[in-house]
Amino acid sequence: MKITTIGMWGGYPEKGEATSSFLVEQDGFSLIVDCGSAVLSTLLTMKDVHELDAFLISHYHPDHIADVGVLQHAAMIHKQLGNLHHPIPIYAHAQDSVEFSKLSYKGVTTGMELEAYASYSIGPFKVSTCPTVHPVYCLAFRIEAAGKAVVFTADTEWTDALVTFSQGANVLVSESNVYPQYAGKIQGHLTGQQAGLLAEQSGVERLVLTHLPQYGDREILVAEAKKEFSGPVELAYTKQQILL
Ligand SMILES: [Zn+2]
Repeated sequence: MKITTIGMWGGYPEKGEATSSFLVEQDGFSLIVDCGSAVLSTLLTMKDVHELDAFLISHYHPDHIADVGVLQHAAMIHKQLGNLHHPIPIYAHAQDSVEFSKLSYKGVTTGMELEAYASYSIGPFKVSTCPTVHPVYCLAFRIEAAGKAVVFTADTEWTDALVTFSQGANVLVSESNVYPQYAGKIQGHLTGQQAGLLAEQSGVERLVLTHLPQYGDREILVAEAKKEFSGPVELAYTKQQILL
């Protein structure tokens, strides 16, 4: 399995970069986790439109779905050009029926409903879901293939459910949006220390921090995570490649 970071910002994209999103590849299949602001322009430096096999959407906040509309325009244009021969599936929960309905568009993308605590075969991947704790309904994803596993927490506060869900994964891609001085003041997200605790309690091999704040010294998030987690910790960065 190969993971490529498309973007790593929380809330909005930092200049010239994209919000948190990842390309996960196995056996020539390309699965994209979240599709927020500036994701498409970065993704298209890596893949052509007809090579995008499926999308996973964690929740319907703009920094996770902002580029779905332009993805649909790209798919429509490439269908008209004869480059795209089937709709691109976009997997997401349907707790928000209005937002879910927007994922299906003119036969070029198709919304595919995800349930909580369920597993799906998507290309070569087994994708499992776990609800997180966030102001809107949100799903974390565990993606497995060829005996390897990566967990994407998506957006969440601390929840013990993610410790069980992430157990034994090779890589944990955790959101880490909150500096220690804002713990308890900024809701719906994890501190670096909590991301480290999640990694430690889950027994994962490696921790990657994403959904990063645009302000402050982000190395503090790494240092905080290392207080709890004995394995390697790093900040996600554009076009970072993780092989597992
Ligand atoms: Zn969110």
